[in-house]
Amino acid sequence: MQKHNFSAGPCVLPQEVLQKASQAILDFDNGLSLIEISHRSKPFVDVMEQARALALELLGLEGKGYKALFLQGGASTQFLMVAQNLLEKRAAYLNTGTWADKAIKEAKIFDDILEVASSKDANYNYIPKGFEIPEDHDYFHCTSNNTIFGTQIKKFPNSPIPMVCDMSSDIFSRTLDFSKFDLIYAGAQKNMGPAGTTLVVVKEDILGKVSRKIPSMLDYKVHIDKSSMFNTPPVFAVYTSMLTLQWLKDLGGIAAIEKENEKKSRLMYSEIDLNPLFKGFAAKEDRSDMNATFTLVNEDLKETFDTMWKDAGINGLNGHRSVGGYRASMYNALSLDSVKVLVEVMSELESKA
Ligand code: PMP
Repeated sequence: MQKHNFSAGPCVLPQEVLQKASQAILDFDNGLSLIEISHRSKPFVDVMEQARALALELLGLEGKGYKALFLQGGASTQFLMVAQNLLEKRAAYLNTGTWADKAIKEAKIFDDILEVASSKDANYNYIPKGFEIPEDHDYFHCTSNNTIFGTQIKKFPNSPIPMVCDMSSDIFSRTLDFSKFDLIYAGAQKNMGPAGTTLVVVKEDILGKVSRKIPSMLDYKVHIDKSSMFNTPPVFAVYTSMLTLQWLKDLGGIAAIEKENEKKSRLMYSEIDLNPLFKGFAAKEDRSDMNATFTLVNEDLKETFDTMWKDAGINGLNGHRSVGGYRASMYNALSLDSVKVLVEVMSELESKA
């Protein structure tokens, strides 16, 4: 039976990427597996360089002073690495959800920070707007897509200080002027590849300005100097990410996938809005194109609905415990057909109820 994987992450990847990645485990270089050759061998160094170059190319950041790195420790390590490398006096943070809150907690290890705005008062169901970013702070940190709550920043502020963004759950899904950002990070396990590597895209000229000593593994400059090979990189995660980036480039890049993502989210939200059995969680103007969060108006229908979507081959629809209900994650590799299947199940429930 065909599966429709709506999981929030790790999540659906393109079938052709999974095929190629599987093949490379068996035979990548003259009968040797990708995971048993030296990471310093030419075939793997080429993979790393291609992955780094593709990331910059797709974001439109080639030749603009940025470097792409594939690091380890998940996006969670970036919460502290960002602060350790950039925070000298005080930084400004926008609190839009659990992940932003965690980033704030890590930054506070280094210094007090300013929360410019927060939507915690409404269980993070909207994106605060109209806040000021003070000029005398070291950087401004925001989270472009709030995976758990299903909100997404649609219009980024013009920041007078370097802008850092956690794009873990919507990187490569929509066109943006990425040169507005000075540092972007994203765990691979949504729109890129398997867990195990984190993409960091950093503008080199923001580094080297803090007075503290930084441990080598946590120092962006060390990783840049060593071409993202300071220590043994997670070769499988980097290779698979490279394949996904190549897949995206062949499709026509971010602009092409954005059109598909818009079709999927439009279909999904129109069902949530028109079907009286369901209610959307996030404020309409801030709705994420990646993660649609919704609940049943009548919880008595839960068992019937859960059986119906599982029978239709749908996977990973349960919402996060802090929101409840359901979350349909529609990352790049999820097809419009999968969304059609879910929408059909939802309207079938309406006709049964
Ligand atoms: N930021 C966001 C927006 C996320 O969605 C996640 C994970 N789902 C993280 C950070 C944490 O990522 P990791 O598990 O790679 O540390």
